[in-house]
Parts: sequence; C-alpha cells; structure tokens
Amino acid sequence: MRILLLSDIHANLEALEASLASAPSFDLVVNLGDIVGYGASPNEVADRCRSLGEIFVRGNHDKAATGLIDLRDFNPVAALASLWTRDHLTEQNLQWLQALPQGPLALKDHPQVQLVHGSPLDEDEYVVSLGDALAPLMASSALITFFGHTHLQGGFFLNDSADGFRPEYRTVGQAESACLQLKPDARYMINPGSVGQPRDGDWRAASALFDTETQIVHFLRAPYNLKAAQDRIFAANLPARLATRLAAGR
Ligand code: ZN
Repeated sequence: MRILLLSDIHANLEALEASLASAPSFDLVVNLGDIVGYGASPNEVADRCRSLGEIFVRGNHDKAATGLIDLRDFNPVAALASLWTRDHLTEQNLQWLQALPQGPLALKDHPQVQLVHGSPLDEDEYVVSLGDALAPLMASSALITFFGHTHLQGGFFLNDSADGFRPEYRTVGQAESACLQLKPDARYMINPGSVGQPRDGDWRAASALFDTETQIVHFLRAPYNLKAAQDRIFAANLPARLATRLAAGR
C-alpha cells in the first residue's frame, strides 16, 4: 500500500494541485489537518480534499474557522484569516470541517500507524524538538505516528538512541524526493511537512508518500504557481504577510 500524506494545506489550491500532480502513484490519501486557514481557496481545497479520500484528522485551524475554538488563542493574523475563512466557507464545507475527527486516529489494516495533527498526547501541541517528541514516542503503542502542525518536514525516532531528521534536497526550485528507510526496531514521529505554507525555509509544497511494503517514507517537494496563490490572497484582502511569507517558506 502506498499512502500519500498531506498536511497543513491551508487553503492553498495551487500548492495542493502541484503536490498531487508530481506525487508518485499512490493507493490512499491521508490528511493530517489544517485544510483551511491563511490561504484564499478554502472551498476549492475542501472540495478537492473530500474527493481524494475519507481519512482526515482535524487541525486547530479547521476548528478555529468553524467556531469550535476561541480565536483569542490565535495571533491577530491567524484570527483574521480564520474569520475571513468562516465568512467564505459554504455551509456544506463548514459543516464538513466542523465534523472532522480528533486525533489520534488509527489506520485500518495498518495497526502500526497512527495519525494526529499535533501530538498523540494533545492534538494542539507543537512537536518541534526531540525533547517535545520523546514523551509521545515513549507513550505510543503505534510504531509510526504521522503528524503535522509545525509545518516542518522531517521527524524523530527512538530505539536504543533518539534523534531528529530532516530530508536533504539538491535544488531549490525543482520537484524532488528524499527517502527514509524505516528501521523495524525504532518508533517514529514523521511530519510530511506543510503543503500550503511550509516553514522550513523551502517554499516548495511539502508532502510524503509511505510505502508500507518497503517501509520507506519518500519526502516530497513540489514547486507550484506561487504568484497565483499570492494574488488570490491579495485579492481577498487577507493580510499581505500571508502572501509574502509563502515565497520564503517561513
Ligand atoms: Zn497548520
């Protein structure tokens, strides 16, 4: 089974389409949340995601845009974008986003895998450092936890030692992949990165493909029509910073 992992699309339709177009062949799509928020194509992205599959974990921005959490916990730009998203979502998409399940989620037929937005211990926690990852790695019975939320592609492992890892790429503007062979004696937390608003200094849309037969994770980057995504944000009168940051991948 080849599973395409998408996370933190954030209503960036151009980045989503480029990720799908350049991904190797896959059997199943899994979505780790933050489908909307920040970008200017919430309905197009929600519709497209629904058409790709049925496995979703909700993200904090999905909750914020549909009124499930208090916007006072958000920074002003994120809160503004959430309000804009709430105003522009169709009733159908709003109800669909509101009903997305909370992680951790088991993956049918793959008991070694669990799916979360933030951490298996707290759906809104940011797992940025190895220190953040140790408690969930030790607490989880699943060998592989796929997570999002930080917008940083890479992850952490624990066996007789523990460390973090990040994929290494050769270019800054082409479609590329980088492989990680999973070891049977280790537990992993793996972040496919953010499709629609990467923050690891690489502007390209991030995703990952997990091959359950070979136990290889292919980290993927796809260049996309950045200007089109930015122009939509400007045209929507969303904060300009949400457009400019996409170019820097920050
Ligand atoms: Zn996010």
